[in-house]
Amino acid sequence: MRMLIMGPPGCGKGTQAERLSQRLGINGVSTGEVFRDHVKDLTPLGRDVKAHLDAGNLVPDDLTNRMVRDRLAQADVRDGFLLDGYPRNTSQLAELDIMLAAEGHALDVALQLTVDNAELARRLLHRATVTGRTDDTEEVIRHRLKLYYRETEPVAAAYSERGILLSVEGTGPEDKVFDRLLAALHASFPDAMDGPL
Ligand code: ADP
Repeated sequence: MRMLIMGPPGCGKGTQAERLSQRLGINGVSTGEVFRDHVKDLTPLGRDVKAHLDAGNLVPDDLTNRMVRDRLAQADVRDGFLLDGYPRNTSQLAELDIMLAAEGHALDVALQLTVDNAELARRLLHRATVTGRTDDTEEVIRHRLKLYYRETEPVAAAYSERGILLSVEGTGPEDKVFDRLLAALHASFPDAMDGPL
C-alpha cells in the first residue's frame, strides 16, 4: 500500500505512523525526522534547512521534493510506504502525483488525524519540556498551527475530493487512536489487512 498520514502538529501522527508501519509491514518515511537527522548530522542539507525548522516554517519545496523523490526511489519503499509529513501544501501534492505516476503508481489512501486546537497546544507545550525540540516553543507552535491550516488543510481537501481520505479522531489514549486507524483502514481495504485487528 502507498499511503500517508497527515494532521496538525501535535496530533500524534509520528507515533501512530511508527506503529502503523510496524503493523502493516511497510516502511515509513517521515520528512520532519529526515530533516532533523540532517540538522543533527550537520550535513549540507541540514545546514540549508535548520533555520526553516527552527522558525516553524516549511522547508522550501525544491529541497523537500528532491529529498522525497530520492527517498522514494530506494528499494525498501518501491512496493509500498507510509509517508508522514508530506505533502504539506498543494504544490508538493502535485509533485508527489508526478513522482508516483512516473512509475505507474498512485496514492492508495491518506489518513488524517483530527485533534482540536486547545488539545494540540497543550500536547505540544508538554512535548517541548520532554523532547527539547527547538520548534516547540509557544510562538513557533502557534505559527506551525497557522501554517497547517493555511497550507496543509487544502491537501486533505484534495484527497477527500478524490475519495481517498480517511479521517480519524486523534484524541484519547494512543492505543484507542491506533485501533481507530486500523478499523478505518480495515473498512476500506479488507483484503490488504489480513490478520487480527
Ligand atoms: P510537526 O508535524 O509536529 O510540525 P514534523 O516532524 O512533521 O512535525 O515537521 C517538522 C518540521 O519539518 C516542519 O515544521 C517543517 O519545517 C519541516 N518539514 C517537514 N515536512 C515538510 C514538508 N513536507 N515540507 C516542508 N517542510 C517540512
